[in-house]
Amino acid sequence: MKTGTVPSVPTRYRCNACGNLTRFDVLETTTVRAFHHYTVGGELTVEEPEVVSRVVDQVTCRWCGHGRSVETLSEEQL
Ligand SMILES: [Zn+2]
Repeated sequence: MKTGTVPSVPTRYRCNACGNLTRFDVLETTTVRAFHHYTVGGELTVEEPEVVSRVVDQVTCRWCGHGRSVETLSEEQL
């Protein structure tokens, strides 16, 4: 994976407390660079948005209500 790119395969999670594989609250911070194109009248069109970084701050299991047992699945485990 190149620096500054977002993998096309989404990150998978698993809650080891309840076995949940499909329902998570994910809090993430993304940094997006985009071309802001204004008309003379001040109307904005955002073009070519590119996610330059994405940081997952917190993953919470929907069933347990906490993320203490949530782990990230590596590609080998999928
Ligand atoms: Zn859980």
